[in-house]
Amino acid sequence: MRSISLFHSIIRENIQLLTTTYLIPLTSRSIPPVSSAISGAATPPIEYPFGTHPVSAGHTQCIAQGVYWIRMPLPFALDHINLWLIEDCIEDLQGWTLIDCGIDSNMTRDLWEQIFAQHLNNKPLLRVIATHMHPDHLGNAHWICERFKLNLWMSGTEFYAAHHALNGDTGFGGTLVSEFMASHGLRNEEWLSIIGNRSNTYSSMVPKVPAKFIQLKHNQLIDIGGHQWQCIEGFGHSPEHIALYSPDLDLLISGDMLLPKISTNVSVWASAPESNPVHDFLESLTYFEKLPAQTTVCPSHGIPFLGIGRRVNELRVHHADRLAEVLQACRSAPQCAHDVIKIMFKRELDLHQITFAMGEALAHLHWWWHKGEVKRFHSEDQIIRFGI
Ligand SMILES: [Zn+2]
Repeated sequence: MRSISLFHSIIRENIQLLTTTYLIPLTSRSIPPVSSAISGAATPPIEYPFGTHPVSAGHTQCIAQGVYWIRMPLPFALDHINLWLIEDCIEDLQGWTLIDCGIDSNMTRDLWEQIFAQHLNNKPLLRVIATHMHPDHLGNAHWICERFKLNLWMSGTEFYAAHHALNGDTGFGGTLVSEFMASHGLRNEEWLSIIGNRSNTYSSMVPKVPAKFIQLKHNQLIDIGGHQWQCIEGFGHSPEHIALYSPDLDLLISGDMLLPKISTNVSVWASAPESNPVHDFLESLTYFEKLPAQTTVCPSHGIPFLGIGRRVNELRVHHADRLAEVLQACRSAPQCAHDVIKIMFKRELDLHQITFAMGEALAHLHWWWHKGEVKRFHSEDQIIRFGI
């Protein structure tokens, strides 16, 4: 599996539960041990009920009653994002709720113009929901919200993290990040210099974030177009990701928390240098594996799929395998994050990929460090290593 690009982590304590007779009681806060994660329980295979060809950019495809799939291009190796339009009615006004917006670019806006003109049936957008603050999800929200005088709905942590990121601390560049990378074993002076001198990558794709928002919380219920949608929080990939589940429609808009082919990036970042995002991510998966087998998962990247139980198990196995490799290495000799990259990623990485690989490597080291299985050493060469 390869990992997708972009930011990350934190954990927050429980929030009041709002359950009804038909919603899934998402109460578990305990994380299964790694060994039970690979139990291999029989789960239906992954299937693609809408085929394996994505909807064309600038067009929509109906995937459930009143729910439409949109795809926008991205200028990365991960070259697209899926967005979702849902027929809605707010205060007797018929229109649309939009989930996620694409990055801020002329190409994205041109495609939005096409969709506004051809696919909204002359009904207005009524609100924008952002699953999280990463640029491909939030970048264009300010433009759409200003143009249609809409409210932005997202979690509090994501909203404030987005404003924080606009001020430059994105985890991608600057002195904080270059010192962080050096302390974990990256000693390529040219790369450290580039990282240290990077301008604000976030603001290049998210030039503005709306000044106000409507806060979404875990287990909150939202009525969209006459159907209830349950907010499901997720951690480890971003500060407080919100996925949306409709039991009426058997549909989960999973954002970046569940993707069919690639594993979500789960990284330690310089701005939260002692976090444990693998723990946070795996704990978040416990919510998703409670959802019914017939749930269609609508991911931000890839194709809508069935087989949520199988996919959650695959992700657990993926991280369990990486964790086992990392622990074995630490038992043989102390390892820094840069050492662990060679174990986890068995190919050459460029500077862009190294930034994320360092974060992922450290995330897997931190799992064992937080568990007490390895100790953290500050060596004479100023590199932080983990060993027994
Ligand atoms: Zn993301």
